[in-house]
Amino acid sequence: MIGVQASGKGTQAKLLAEKLKIPHISTGDIFRSLDDESELGKKVNEFMERGELVPDDIVMEVVKERLKKDDVREGAIADGFPRNIDQAKRLDEFWTVETVVHIKITDEEAIKRITGRRICTNTECNAIYNVNTSPIPTTEGMCDKCGSDLKQREDETEEAVKERIQTFHDETEPVIEHYKAKGVVIEVDGMGEIAEVQKRILVKLNID
Ligand code: AMP
Repeated sequence: MIGVQASGKGTQAKLLAEKLKIPHISTGDIFRSLDDESELGKKVNEFMERGELVPDDIVMEVVKERLKKDDVREGAIADGFPRNIDQAKRLDEFWTVETVVHIKITDEEAIKRITGRRICTNTECNAIYNVNTSPIPTTEGMCDKCGSDLKQREDETEEAVKERIQTFHDETEPVIEHYKAKGVVIEVDGMGEIAEVQKRILVKLNID
């Protein structure tokens, strides 16, 4: 599953994995679950905090380990990798990518979705809102659930988001071209509701 940040690829990857009863493997989730105090955790955090890609050697090591497990015998939904051409070529050496689902949204939509996000400042609550999509907080700047202030995450400002979108164009779009040359890419319109997008994916994949 490939798509720019906020395309809904993570959500759709999870839904598809549930439907097909195969694991959903997200490198982002794996990295976030690492022990912050471990050697690997510290190294990975340095890159993630700056919004940069984690070095390929680390990514491929983690991916290789995960794909050795028994539960991927019937396949898996990969979410967040391969993220650049080097990772794609290295993955091709030990794994067959059967289908690539590219969820497409415009850059403007990605910016709108991400910069609209507001999170509750109460760490016990952590509710998430979106002033451009939904759920919109009833009172501007205030959490509906606990009344605390809402804030924007530092890495979700327009400037930070534009940089990450550019990384997608520069690094990840060549991955889509790489798999297009192999004839395995399916393009899906990612605009609209989650259920609508899911339906489009299932139709294109011929899944009931
Ligand atoms: P994600 O949840 O997919 O947006 O990933 C969150 C962060 O983890 C990214 O901003 C990267 O720093 C890192 N990351 C996840 N997957 C990869 C990957 N395949 N290659 C490099 N960095 C990755």
